[in-house]
Amino acid sequence: METRNVTILGSGPAGLTAAIYTARANLSPLVLAGEPSSTSDQPGGQLMLTTEVENYPGFVDGITGPELMENLKSQALRFGAEILTTRASGVDLGTRPFAISVEGPSEEDSSYFTESLIIATGSQALMLGIENEMRLLGHGVSTCATCDGFFFRNQAIAVVGGGDSALEEALFLTKFADRVTIVHRRDALRASKIMQDRAFSNPKIDFLWNTTVLDVLGSDSVDGLQVRNVLSGEISRLDITGLFVAIGHQPNTALFKGQLDIDDLGYIQTMDKTTRTSVQGVFACGDVQDPTYRQAITAAGSGCSAAIDTERWLELAKHEAAQSVASRQG
Ligand code: NAP
Repeated sequence: METRNVTILGSGPAGLTAAIYTARANLSPLVLAGEPSSTSDQPGGQLMLTTEVENYPGFVDGITGPELMENLKSQALRFGAEILTTRASGVDLGTRPFAISVEGPSEEDSSYFTESLIIATGSQALMLGIENEMRLLGHGVSTCATCDGFFFRNQAIAVVGGGDSALEEALFLTKFADRVTIVHRRDALRASKIMQDRAFSNPKIDFLWNTTVLDVLGSDSVDGLQVRNVLSGEISRLDITGLFVAIGHQPNTALFKGQLDIDDLGYIQTMDKTTRTSVQGVFACGDVQDPTYRQAITAAGSGCSAAIDTERWLELAKHEAAQSVASRQG
């Protein structure tokens, strides 16, 4: 099977920006885009679950997440990137070319070989880990206001978390719901000041401070939460018909454990302000290596860096291989 110059894992803003840049550098990138998931019917990363993106430079009036991803994808295809809707199930970074396996129906499609690899696998939503949360996921429990907000017209719902995600979800949900209660385990928010100001001044949003969710109530759909005040220990019921979990994200690095340097939080470690990882020829960009900024624009920016780092590394590797042949012959 043909060995690719570069393969990109992931099709969020980081992966597709890396695809645009490597395609324009004539490297004919292969993008393994991922697959539809329980939260999105198309790959494309977390922006597929976002409505308005107001802070991506260049869009004066904003753009929806799915539209932005469709634009990036079309742009990558225009320059010759090959994009497959499939998920890598294993990687072998021990020898070059690197081998990538995918779960597919045919033997022929089960492995790809690549001189270099750009990892842009992003991160995924964390869950509370309480008993009925997964059972009622899709039946009143959601991690995506964009996808599911519409179903909660004129209802009372709750959002768990105190970060920017929780406030963004809550603010968006006020377009549909009558009342949105933000349930937070402390008495201070982690979110940015501007988001706090917006949430505090929204008459449809109220806060349940110092409170954790003990259980999600309801048999076929959500009809309430059992909550506990962490200061008084008092347990009470909150009558709501929807719960949005917005407590952060986990980087998607399981495939690389034991093969790349990964930090305590699970993020791939990159070196010296580049996208280089601990393995030569492997680069990482976007949320999978970024515990700090985690924005669409920073992901796209690091996808550009990964493409340039990869292009330069491939050039150097080719030059060194040619020199080694020449010295053997001479
Ligand atoms: P985050 O900043 O890590 O906030 C997670 C929140 O969930 C925290 O308030 C945390 O409580 C709470 N939490 C965590 N585990 C919990 C649990 N088991 N039970 C109850 N509560 C729990 O995550 P995020 O809000 O997803 O934001 C991630 C990054 O993306 C941030 O840098 C953020 O600024 C950025 N972001 C930006 C925007 C925007 O600019 N429009 C939108 C979304 C996200 P504690 O506070 O007590 O730890």
